[in-house]
Parts: sequence; C-alpha cells; structure tokens
Amino acid sequence: MDFIAIQGAISSLKAAAEISKSIMDMKNMSEVQGKVIELQSALLEAQNCALTATTSQFELQERVRELEAKLKERGDWEEQKVRYQLVSPWKGPAQTYALKESYSNGEEPHLVCSSCFHNEDKIILNPVKNKTGFIQMVCPKCKSTMDTGYRGIGGPKYAEEYSQKN
Ligand SMILES: [Zn+2]
Repeated sequence: MDFIAIQGAISSLKAAAEISKSIMDMKNMSEVQGKVIELQSALLEAQNCALTATTSQFELQERVRELEAKLKERGDWEEQKVRYQLVSPWKGPAQTYALKESYSNGEEPHLVCSSCFHNEDKIILNPVKNKTGFIQMVCPKCKSTMDTGYRGIGGPKYAEEYSQKN
C-alpha cells in the first residue's frame, strides 16, 4: 500500500469538500468560477493520488505473485533433490547424480547432469559413442561431457547399486 498516495487523495478530497461548502455561501458569479477551478484541481489531485496508490498496489501484488512462484519452485526442487545421490559409476573421475531406488516411486533408474543439478535443474544424461569408440555421457542442456572409460555400458542403475559397487 502506498500510504502517502492514499493520504494525498484523502487530503485533496477534504480540500474539495471545503471548497464546495464555500461555494454555497457565495453570491458573486466570478468568485464562484474561481472556486470551481480550485475545486477541479483538488479533484484532479485526488484522482492522481488514487491512481498512484492503485499502481503501487498492483506492483506489490505482482511482486507477491512472483515470490510465491519462486517459493513453490524452491519447495519442488527440495523435494526432487533428496531423490538423487552423487555417484562415480565409471572408470574415470566423472561423477553424476543417480536416482535412489528408495525414492524412485516406480521411476526407471537414470543419471542426471551434475552441473545442471547444482543449478537446480534435472537433466538426464545420454550415452554417446565418441570417435575412439568409448562411451561418453552427454548433457543435452549444458552440453558437458563425461568420459566413462568404457566401450560399452549397461543401462543406468539406481544410486544404491552404484554405492554398493564402490
Ligand atoms: Zn548439464
């Protein structure tokens, strides 16, 4: 709420009411005309203040809506984050996040990009055979690649299975 604008509107309306009262007591037409101009400008001022107050209220509502959306996004991500675990499934030093079976809710095992994961994004890695015949895992979003050190890898496993192996 823009209290200054609202106060401005109220005081302009009070002034307008005062001017209206004084007009009633006037006998002279030119005096009345002068007061009518004053009255118009007081009403215009009240209108401007009301407009400012409305605009700032609209902006505040918009900001609240944005923050609520962010908060929801944040909550959704917190729920997703706990479903994954950092694992080292391959020969090389590359690490990735694997879905935990205990949190899978029937979802197939998959591996997600660790760079994107740290940016709160869940992007499933795709295996690609490079020119030398080795399998690389590629993130379709950030394009980061991870050497597996293998010429052939089976399908992705749940995080629990990778941790048992290591
Ligand atoms: Zn990525």
